[in-house]
Amino acid sequence: MKWKEQITGMKAYKPGKSIDAVKREFGLEEIVRLASNENPFGSSPKVQEFLAKESFNFALYPDGYATELRAAVATKLGISENELIFGNGSDELISIITRALLYPGVNTVMGNPTFSQYALNAKIEGAEIREVPLIDGNHDLDTMLEAIDENTAVVWVCSPNNPTGVVVEDEPLQAFLKKVPSDVLVVLDEAYFEYVTSAAHVNTVPYIQNYPNVIILRTFSKAYGLAAFRVGYGIANKELIAKMEPVRGPFNNTVLSQAIAQVALQDDAYIEKCREENSKGLKQFEVFCDKNKLHYFPTNTNFILMEVKADSDVVFQGLMKRGFIIRSGNALGTPGYIRVTIGTQAQNEGFLTQLDAVLQEQGVLS
Ligand SMILES: *Cc1c(COP(=O)(O)O)cnc(C)c1O
Repeated sequence: MKWKEQITGMKAYKPGKSIDAVKREFGLEEIVRLASNENPFGSSPKVQEFLAKESFNFALYPDGYATELRAAVATKLGISENELIFGNGSDELISIITRALLYPGVNTVMGNPTFSQYALNAKIEGAEIREVPLIDGNHDLDTMLEAIDENTAVVWVCSPNNPTGVVVEDEPLQAFLKKVPSDVLVVLDEAYFEYVTSAAHVNTVPYIQNYPNVIILRTFSKAYGLAAFRVGYGIANKELIAKMEPVRGPFNNTVLSQAIAQVALQDDAYIEKCREENSKGLKQFEVFCDKNKLHYFPTNTNFILMEVKADSDVVFQGLMKRGFIIRSGNALGTPGYIRVTIGTQAQNEGFLTQLDAVLQEQGVLS
């Protein structure tokens, strides 16, 4: 068959082991997954209440324009409805953007390490990938600017960055946006926006008025606790949205996911509570790292990238045997580190006890 040249030799995305698989393999009764930065508290209780009392007609296609959800998000953000595009998770928006703008002969600029889907999608489209190493976990915007040339189509800024958690502050970001040529799309991936606590990063939505070449990506998968429903959205100038819309699948969000995202969106108090719990949880990790002199990156998310002073894969395996699934830095381009989702206070305590034991085994701690 006549496959695209660039997909030969490519491997399918390998999701972390499932909870059931790990239970069976290690004979454990309880497993805690702190691997994918989902909300450990789940979604707003209003979602469960809604599900218990509503019924739906599943025979009909969903509203392809997500009219009601669109109106709700637009109102919440203080923007127009035609300044939004909805995706089956922001993952789908990343793929829509690359499909619309990348092809052999153009290039795309991104940090390294950053969210793996940017490079993966760019590779499928056959575009040249220009990776600019981070500085102290943060995007090196000056060097990224230098990497841009007349063939650059898309620049990715993941803020806060996955896997480091470091946020790009508003001042350098604005200075950067002023210098990026207006025919280069800048994607601001803000999957963790709701968790940001830095006062130097406030709200980027007004940027779309001044920078018609910027799209902001947000999602219901992280703080809203709805990863299973696959709803993400892009915020941009209406001309930009209109160009992208034909690339989107016609019915890419389900009836249920549109309805539930709307319910979750109304519960600000829940998000606020999760933010507070996350800050408390993060403290537990910081205290542990400080006490044991393990480096970590200042995070504005619900995960932490922390040093283990040992082989990350060995630490990963040791933790899995003890009932905790996390991400090894080896898989994320940060060897010697692990990425851990901040859990509930009890989960964090359990995790740090087990990590202590693993690091003692490795001779890192005594
Ligand atoms: C989790 C994540 C996404 C994907 O989120 P979905 O909306 O579930 O597809 C996108 N970007 C970053 C940086 C993420 O961490």
